[in-house]
Amino acid sequence: MPKHDLRDLSIEELEGLLSGWQEKPYHARQVFSWVHKKGISDFSAMSDLSDDLRKKLASRFFIGSLGLAKIFKSSDGTEKFLLRLGDKDLVEAVSIPSANRVTGCISTQVGCKFRCSFCASGISGFKRNLSVAEIIAEALFLKYKSSQKKLTHIVFMGTGEPFDNYDCVMKAIRIINSPFGLNIGARRITISTSGIIPGIKKLADEGLQVELSVSLHAADDATRDLIMPVNKIYPLKELIPACRDYFKKTNRQVTFEYIMIKGFNSDLKNAADLGKILKGMDSKVNLIPANPVKELKIEAPSDKEISQFKNALSASGINVTLRKPRGEDIEAACGQLRFSYEKK
Ligand code: SAH
Repeated sequence: MPKHDLRDLSIEELEGLLSGWQEKPYHARQVFSWVHKKGISDFSAMSDLSDDLRKKLASRFFIGSLGLAKIFKSSDGTEKFLLRLGDKDLVEAVSIPSANRVTGCISTQVGCKFRCSFCASGISGFKRNLSVAEIIAEALFLKYKSSQKKLTHIVFMGTGEPFDNYDCVMKAIRIINSPFGLNIGARRITISTSGIIPGIKKLADEGLQVELSVSLHAADDATRDLIMPVNKIYPLKELIPACRDYFKKTNRQVTFEYIMIKGFNSDLKNAADLGKILKGMDSKVNLIPANPVKELKIEAPSDKEISQFKNALSASGINVTLRKPRGEDIEAACGQLRFSYEKK
């Protein structure tokens, strides 16, 4: 029988399985504690379980460890890990320390289908979805193997589109959020989407207090079409109402990410358009000066242009912040992650 990665299971599933083996369900908590709270991946080390149970678990499951292919350390404390999955595919995960938090930026797919023109992740195309166990393994890796040895927040802003791997991402979030797992509060977990409307609708019904970020990057369909092919399927004229509905249903603010690309989407007319489409919506705009990607010719506007844009948005009543790029010197900033390492 092929073995499964134990981290694919929720605590309820593991309890059910143990009951089926005529074992006490509370052993599931012990196993979870070893795996998620201590980062142990060897059943024989689980010293509060009987020998028998350890053997039984080991005969059915494994706890795969991610191989470290490469580590990049930024002068600002950010660490980027290139991680090798069981089948040798590579993903990137980033640990970003700041004042009193450590944020893990996690990938959800190997490669990406969406081919946004400013982003490195889609350059080599799409390979596959990550499993629940692999997503959790990234979080565990960041917690136990980074210099910080700490993980307080998670953003699904690594490679891939979380809503294109919806079920695995949701299950992984529930396990990470569980008091028996990493116990990271839902409000400290952010899902970032390129604007997959069915995903936004489904999320509204999950009853999870996670943060939702939508990658907007343009305030009109013609402009967004040019940089985000997904806009042809889920155009702004439908995406923005879907975000308004999300707020109505959940009472949770949506954050709109807006990459500022020099000479493309950053003049005062763009700011006015953005103010117009978001008018009256309880939301936030996060401006991100475009990060350079070698293969793609994009540049951030000048500081002056950025602050003019920000002030104009602010003046039209929009709640706006400017994101400070982190890990730029190691290509760990937003949109700079790519799975192929030969290309470096
Ligand atoms: N697919 C999801 C999550 C991954 S991207 C999404 O699209 O939201 C995470 C964030 O990085 C998104 O807001 C994305 O648009 C942004 N990003 C991509 N390339 C970038 C670049 N070159 N500079 C700045 N941000 C970038």
